[in-house]
Amino acid sequence: MPHDFHRRRLLKAFGAGAAAALLAPFHQAFAAAPRNLLADPRFDVDPFQLGVASGEPAADGFVLWTRLAPQPLEQGGGMVMRPMAVAWEVAEDEGFRRVLRRGSALARPELGHSVHVEVDGLPPGRPWWYRFRVGDATSPVGRGATLPDAGARVDRVRFAVAGCQHYEEGHYTAWRRIAEEPLDFVFHYGDYIYEGPDNGPGERRVNGRPFVPLRRHVGGEIYSLDDYRRRYALYRGDRDLQAAHAAAPWFVSFDDHEIDNNWAADRDQDGTPPELFLLRRAAGFQAFYEHMPLRRRSLPTPQGHMRMYRRAAWGDLLTTHFLDTRQYRSDQINGDRDGPLGEAALAPERTMLGAQQEAWLHEGLRPDGQCWHAIAQQVGLANLAMRHRDSGEIIHSTDQWGGYLAARRRLLGRIREAGMTNVVTVSGDAHRHFASDLVHNSGEGAPVSCEFLATSVTSGSDGIGEDDDFHRNTRSLNPQLKAMTDKRGYVLCDVTRDAWRGDLKVLDRVMVPDAPVRTFASFVVEPGRPGLQAA
Ligand code: FE
Ligand code: CA
Repeated sequence: MPHDFHRRRLLKAFGAGAAAALLAPFHQAFAAAPRNLLADPRFDVDPFQLGVASGEPAADGFVLWTRLAPQPLEQGGGMVMRPMAVAWEVAEDEGFRRVLRRGSALARPELGHSVHVEVDGLPPGRPWWYRFRVGDATSPVGRGATLPDAGARVDRVRFAVAGCQHYEEGHYTAWRRIAEEPLDFVFHYGDYIYEGPDNGPGERRVNGRPFVPLRRHVGGEIYSLDDYRRRYALYRGDRDLQAAHAAAPWFVSFDDHEIDNNWAADRDQDGTPPELFLLRRAAGFQAFYEHMPLRRRSLPTPQGHMRMYRRAAWGDLLTTHFLDTRQYRSDQINGDRDGPLGEAALAPERTMLGAQQEAWLHEGLRPDGQCWHAIAQQVGLANLAMRHRDSGEIIHSTDQWGGYLAARRRLLGRIREAGMTNVVTVSGDAHRHFASDLVHNSGEGAPVSCEFLATSVTSGSDGIGEDDDFHRNTRSLNPQLKAMTDKRGYVLCDVTRDAWRGDLKVLDRVMVPDAPVRTFASFVVEPGRPGLQAA
């Protein structure tokens, strides 16, 4: 009988002291025990080499994640291709003296032997520690957290905004420094992986110079589910990244490179037929789901859709709207290239969020007693003007919100018309820090909101700071832009009832390990006064 067998094994695995706590999840998990269950998994090599993670916290629980992969870069991760049970437990303390919830979940080959547990039934507003066990192997310990109850008084929330972590372009020291910060959560805005091939020394230019990769991708450009899995396994093997996942709950989103550069809904940038691109997108979505602490509601559907926009609230202090700016957007104008914004950018039928998500967001943006609203998304809202290097023409990124000017005006118009003076936006993608006021029509009128656009963790490698023509031109063309730099790092937000403080954190080097972090610039925002003020 697999039931009794597994019950005995689980009791042995985590001690028999909490049999009652074990029973409910035990029966749930094994009510539909698969007939091909591998009853007694054994590992000669640690199957937890990809670490652990938690995410999507709610007031009563959160998602626990791991993926079994004793040989992370091999086909199937070195796993026996059968489902197997993984025991998990959640404790009040790091030493696991008071375990509140435990159970067993299946790691299935269909999902790359990833494990997603939606823990519930926990008290709100405090940290929790979790770990997994399979066979004789025990995972590292991670720290999760439950959100405060809806409407509870909350005085302070701290979070990091980070993303764009090209594996070849630097050490993940930013993730190590994020792991060292006392944070309530991490928002990953996307570009968790990059889809490009292994690049040998000098095959690519970074910052205008031939680049010698710090470390290398494996294989060519990725297309199949196994390709994407192997790419995640490569990235997820990094110890600094694992430390950040284990340190705090994450809210993740994908941007373009999780699938392909600058994709838009069912289109890639190369003119591939949509019905073919959607096959690749489905592989990328599945691998993304498999490697992220996401709830079941985000499991890709058989039609290839992945629900990623959602909200979370930290008591009465902060509501965050997490957006998906890739899956529903109109194709870029100007063939994806930076260019002047003409009538095409203003076409009202072009969308960044899709009608459903846009309505959902606008419905959520209303004065509701919350001290702050955050919009956490992928690409720049500031619509910065740039000067073309050769022609001197004024151009804009057409992949960011500037290429979707009508949608941008609808969003900022909604904030203004709702009378909201407490909306702050966070984003990424540009591989530079950009701290900007957001004005309804760029360059005109009072700020409606502001944007902390976080630089990359590694993409762009060591960077060139502030001393270049792009920097000087962009500063002079955009009075709403208050700070920018081309260095690697992240944004740290410290949100209290009186002020939202944003620190632009930078690392001077990512091509050497363990660089110190420093604050490049800091701004504060007050809840009744949109716009950045010098801190
Ligand atoms: Fe990027
Ligand atoms: Ca991007």
